[in-house]
Amino acid sequence: MSVLTIRTFPDPVLRTPADAVGTGRRGLHRLVRDMFETLDDVGGVGLAAPQVGVGLRLFTFDVEGLRGYVIDPELRTHGELVTEPGEGCLSVPGLHYRPERSEEAVVTRVDAEGEPVEYRGRGLTARCFQHEVDHLDGMLFIDRLTGEDRRDSRRRLRDAAYGQ
Ligand code: ZN
Repeated sequence: MSVLTIRTFPDPVLRTPADAVGTGRRGLHRLVRDMFETLDDVGGVGLAAPQVGVGLRLFTFDVEGLRGYVIDPELRTHGELVTEPGEGCLSVPGLHYRPERSEEAVVTRVDAEGEPVEYRGRGLTARCFQHEVDHLDGMLFIDRLTGEDRRDSRRRLRDAAYGQ
């Protein structure tokens, strides 16, 4: 097992839509194990494969007592759009905002054996699922900001000192 390097803004892998995992792909168990070890090492709630430089549609999570991973996830959202709780991202260190997310989310598809999985959550868990699936589409949480938050994030990311 190994802790993987987390890619950070502006690494282009974070802006690249990930490929479907599909069936028969080798090395998935190891990748999932390493992603969990990396997530635990940094104490995060979610980690998507592109964040460790792997352009595949899968993510791991450990949020509010719910721990798991989903390969080729399908996301369904329900409920109102809410701005609480706020969020940050391991790949955009130091920035925290409150983008709108659906209050409830269900994520389905398969594990590394191809067996179906389903996880549902509200609040922070629902936010985590939506945030991680965005990563698989090459989207970051800062892309969902509007108004002053959007301007503020752009200013901070343009700053030459960001990431130093
Ligand atoms: Zn993130």
